[in-house]
Amino acid sequence: MKTSYNEKLLRINLTTNEIKVEPLNLEIAKKFIGARGLGSKILLDEIDPSVDPLSSENKLVIMTGPVTGASVPTGGRYVVVTKSPLTGMIACSNSGGEWGAKLKYSGFDGIIIEGKSNTPKYLYINDDKVEILNAHHVWGKTSTETDIFLKEKYPQASVLNIGPGGENLSLMAAIINDTDRAAGRSGVGAVMGSKNLKAIVVNSSKNSIPVNNPDALRKELVIAMKKIKEDGVTGTGLPTYGTAVLVNIINETGSFPTNNWQGSYSQNAENISGETLTEKYLKRTYNCHRCPIGCGRVVEREGKEIGGPEYETLWAYGGNCGVYDIPTINEANFWCNELGLDAISVPCTIAAGMELYEKGLISDNDCEGIPLKFGSKIAVVEWTKRIGFGETSLGKLMALGSQRLCEHYGHPEISMSVKKQELPAYDARGIQGIGLNYATSNRGGCHVRGYMISPEILAHPELLDRTVTDNKASWTKIFQDLTAVIDSMGICLFTSFALNAEDYTNFLNAATGTEHTVTSLLDTGERIYNLERVFNKRAGMKPEDDQLPKRLLKEAIVNGPSKGLKSKLDIMLPEYYKARGWENAFPTKETLQKLGLEDLC
Ligand code: SF4
Repeated sequence: MKTSYNEKLLRINLTTNEIKVEPLNLEIAKKFIGARGLGSKILLDEIDPSVDPLSSENKLVIMTGPVTGASVPTGGRYVVVTKSPLTGMIACSNSGGEWGAKLKYSGFDGIIIEGKSNTPKYLYINDDKVEILNAHHVWGKTSTETDIFLKEKYPQASVLNIGPGGENLSLMAAIINDTDRAAGRSGVGAVMGSKNLKAIVVNSSKNSIPVNNPDALRKELVIAMKKIKEDGVTGTGLPTYGTAVLVNIINETGSFPTNNWQGSYSQNAENISGETLTEKYLKRTYNCHRCPIGCGRVVEREGKEIGGPEYETLWAYGGNCGVYDIPTINEANFWCNELGLDAISVPCTIAAGMELYEKGLISDNDCEGIPLKFGSKIAVVEWTKRIGFGETSLGKLMALGSQRLCEHYGHPEISMSVKKQELPAYDARGIQGIGLNYATSNRGGCHVRGYMISPEILAHPELLDRTVTDNKASWTKIFQDLTAVIDSMGICLFTSFALNAEDYTNFLNAATGTEHTVTSLLDTGERIYNLERVFNKRAGMKPEDDQLPKRLLKEAIVNGPSKGLKSKLDIMLPEYYKARGWENAFPTKETLQKLGLEDLC
């Protein structure tokens, strides 16, 4: 039967320089869909979850999904699955741009990278020709320099690479593709750096893939495009203002953390809003592969176009570090991309450093000429560079993330992180469900494992009262399971504002020939979520790791419309475990059996 899988995996061993092409087990692929689900299954099968994430025993699994490269809106994404050096748990970071589709067109569903090279290397894939090549000439270069150098050699190719952040093993290092698209979170770039792998260049003579039922896929495409165009978020908000459309919306709810979450509302938010960004600084918008939404921003720096900031980055450098100035944030964001750094975790670590400094815990001496003061434009740019280049003792310490930084100074509670990963831009005291999602996210502090902002703020698919805990457990579970499906298909999560589970079911069936119902598809998402949780348990996760920072549980919001609120995680968490069939934060034997994961019991 024809499917949209290539049915081929590439295995690269960097210790032995061995290149192998292996058949994809189609039954397993369908059971876990692809991308995030299949990548997680492969990782759990192939590594001991207790390994040192930066050792040669860890693997980097780069996977596409079954609709990556197909005629599906936003169907161009790939994921990187590995054991995270930041959290010590499973990492899955995904990215758009063109690289994922190119890999799919080259004839592979994914790449399993194992071992470690003694010298810097890059991979070159051109359809079925695969080479491991010397990367001495690009080692040490920034991500754009690397991209330009390799594109001169391979003009039609798409380049994925790490910057100095990954080379220097910053635990917040990202993998960058197509100049400024990032698989940003959980330190996946450090794992690539630990293997001495600088880049993966992909080219293909093809620009389409076969699918099981082209007519059905075309029909679904027409339906989906209409929904995406007509929806207020995907048809107007994101195309016009990018994700930064959220700055004013979240600030007006009083859930916009400021100064390392010491406040939750800012009168200066308008200065860094999507409206201001569009009006004063936007050069043009950017669309990833086959994306009709185009949330990407392009701004200008020194006469050249560069990628503009997302909502999270505007918040993290803006509200959270107190720098309400878009040109400065553009500059800091530029350095995150150039150095290959996560543009959420890095500014949040700087914000934690600022709180430590202002409380007298970090000295001027430690700061070596650049005091970590809230509101300092120089500090946010220069400390980003110090982190990425591994400069100064404090810069090297900050490169390990906020939790390790704050522990070093004896105040771990100042790190606003879950499972050692920095929290994103929504105050969990003012929006209860997103806090439950943060606490239970398998990859640590993260909004895009179960984006409860959709129902709690944006009224998609319906409006929930953000201040109460009622039904948040079941909603969070459904959002997490559906997100696991979307991430596994190779499609952008932002489509979910306009599309529903039935749309995804129809796309997947048309592409692969599966006969999923909405229920069986959500069960598959649940299977993936549980498999990730088993990985974490074997990696050493403890029940108490499903937690929020003390500040969100004990200290009420001090200003703005949500003043007085605290997170009621203690009410939601037992309800959530019950909904999931988990005891003490982990799946029971019965739950694993029900989900077809008996081999993990
Ligand atoms: S919505 Fe934005 S992030 Fe998603 S695929 Fe489109 S441009 Fe890329």
